[in-house]
Amino acid sequence: MKIDNILSALEAKHPGENEFLQAVKEVLVSIEDVYNQHPEFEKNRIIERLVEPDRIFTFRVAWVDDQGDIQVNLGYRVQFNNAIGPYKGGLRFHASVNLSSLKFLGFEQTFKNALTTLPMGGGKGGSDFSPRGKSNAEIMRFCQAFMLELWRNIGPDTDVPAGDIGVGTREIGYLYGMYKKLARENTGTFTGKGLEYGGSLVRPEATGFGALYFVQEMLNAKNIDLKGKTVAVSGFGNVAWGAVTKATELGAKVVTISGPDGYIYDPEGISGDKIEYMLELRNSGDDIVAPYAQKYPNSVFHASKKPWLEKVDIALPCAIQNELNLNDAETLINNGVTCVAEVSNMGCTAEAVDLFIEKKILFAPGKAVNAGGVATSGLEMSQNAMHIQWSAEEVDKKLHEIMKNIHEQCLKFGKGNEQYINYVKGANVAGFMKVARAMMAQGVI
Ligand code: GLU
Repeated sequence: MKIDNILSALEAKHPGENEFLQAVKEVLVSIEDVYNQHPEFEKNRIIERLVEPDRIFTFRVAWVDDQGDIQVNLGYRVQFNNAIGPYKGGLRFHASVNLSSLKFLGFEQTFKNALTTLPMGGGKGGSDFSPRGKSNAEIMRFCQAFMLELWRNIGPDTDVPAGDIGVGTREIGYLYGMYKKLARENTGTFTGKGLEYGGSLVRPEATGFGALYFVQEMLNAKNIDLKGKTVAVSGFGNVAWGAVTKATELGAKVVTISGPDGYIYDPEGISGDKIEYMLELRNSGDDIVAPYAQKYPNSVFHASKKPWLEKVDIALPCAIQNELNLNDAETLINNGVTCVAEVSNMGCTAEAVDLFIEKKILFAPGKAVNAGGVATSGLEMSQNAMHIQWSAEEVDKKLHEIMKNIHEQCLKFGKGNEQYINYVKGANVAGFMKVARAMMAQGVI
């Protein structure tokens, strides 16, 4: 495999898709050795086929706002790869959404879903619609307009969307409601549904909980105790909330959360009712964290800054791609950080990742760390197919086992001759091998 040739051909075909190219490059560099040991992969053009999505739907979403004005957004669904199961992945509603970000997310999702041990292919979708400051009625009308177009292309055994940034239980409710009306069936098709209509217990917490189970495994492998460690979390949405909850429960002290307006430093730790307050902040729809410092005066709000300036043992980016750059990585390392785990998808820039690995910092990529979210979506699909509901304990136990298994897979492929575990390599090789074998078995399609 000639990585540079593949990347330049891809760039020529898809100019300007920087996030997508970044995600592809990371995987190609990781799998190069293994790929070259399997001439059948090269012969079957596995990589050339894997870097192009199976298909992409792009559509216009026109809707009417509360003033009676017509708004026009773009909608997408990238069906990336279904070699190991139906397309599966979230919908992101955020002003930054474009084809490059959704292709990178769909590509990552393919390997992440392979790691979960469950039969799910990779997909991703969304819109450049920003829920910030929108009324409930506007959100509902937008979701309905989005679904009027997308419903024909999804289904319980073809493509199963879920939430992501800007898409939570409320949005899934509106999307699924319209889907059911159009499709005239009640077979799941979405995950992240409300508990009353087929949702799974623990799904809201799953990404954050799973991330902390994974971090625990990383630390255990190095005989480090999570108890008493200080943690910097970015973001304040559903994923951050789950991570803060579990980190606190496991005895760590979370000292930061952040929003687009800046970050909060709370030296006393974000625990108890402060965690519940995160939900209130999110539900306000304003997308800011500053009010936290008014409510809890012992905390400080740092406007337009990121939490990576603080001296902490563990850093957990939980917001969005490339939110932690080379400068941030240098600052964290200089301040003695022990472990950095991406909870957001591709939360660190390529340069930051390279530095963490060079300096032998315990570092793990999003596709392993945050796989608990989609894994629990897989468990929701199983419950829907069986028409039953498992208890919270049962789901949590399965989630915990899956995260341990993902960690094992990372160790298997990420442990070289030295002591250092390269989780990026481990996750990419483990995910890739499963998808590649499934593609080989199914012929040229
Ligand atoms: N959006 C989440 C992710 O990035 C969850 C996807 C899902 O549950 O399908 O993995």
